[in-house]
Amino acid sequence: MPELPEVETIARNLCLGTQQQPSLVGRHILGANLLWGRTLVEPSPVEFSQRIEGQVIEAIDRRGKFLYFQLTCDWLLFHLRMSGDLVVQRLDSPQKTHDRLVLPLEGELELVFNDARKFGRVWLVEEVDRVVGHLGPEPLDESLTPAIFFTKLQSTRRQLKPLLLDQPFLAGLGNIYADEALNLAKLHPLIISNTLAEAQAASLLQSIRTVLRDGIARNGASIDWVYRGGDFQNYFRVYQRTGKPCQECGTLIARIIVGQRGTHFCPQCQPPLSSMEVSHG
Ligand SMILES: [Zn+2]
Repeated sequence: MPELPEVETIARNLCLGTQQQPSLVGRHILGANLLWGRTLVEPSPVEFSQRIEGQVIEAIDRRGKFLYFQLTCDWLLFHLRMSGDLVVQRLDSPQKTHDRLVLPLEGELELVFNDARKFGRVWLVEEVDRVVGHLGPEPLDESLTPAIFFTKLQSTRRQLKPLLLDQPFLAGLGNIYADEALNLAKLHPLIISNTLAEAQAASLLQSIRTVLRDGIARNGASIDWVYRGGDFQNYFRVYQRTGKPCQECGTLIARIIVGQRGTHFCPQCQPPLSSMEVSHG
């Protein structure tokens, strides 16, 4: 499932263009062809087509794992979930099996939302917070200071791994980057959040930022069956490295299930009850 660095990469490519596709910013949307009704959360399909036609794409960016297009009057949002993909192609290209929504654009182009597993969702709303207002802070936003992050961790009694995946707590992290950040911070995934010392909380925030920035710099990870183009998967410290040696200490990477999610960690570098130690990672 695409996480913050993958969605950031997709937004950047749509915004700036790539060698394969031009930028979409500044282009008129000429209409809408909805091929799978449940992809669209709101408004109704008829209203969607009427409202979106003629609007200009002013900006393309990301909030958490949501991709958004700021239009003349409205916000067009996508959540890619398991298998959603946004493709820019020439107008009237042959339709593919899992195409769910096609938006013809000026310049003989079309933006296609393709989604084999049908979990992806689309919204067209006047007020963006209707869709993303529940999200917690952006981890790369410097207004999230170590002191604020420590207070947030202190305010709840939850295991670190599920807490980091909780989008109202912190936006954008998924299974890959949560495991990588906890390893870099030398914190066991089951440590209870309010037992962390202030220095450990600061280390965790710093580690989250490091793995996200590394992921973005490598255009994300291409392990999902749809997302492609990044190579961060070649630099994983623990994720999907079960049974392989830790790069720091040689101990074999372990895998446990936490909150129904496979969780990878080094039993030596990430001891279970390290709340009395200060990480120097
Ligand atoms: Zn280790």
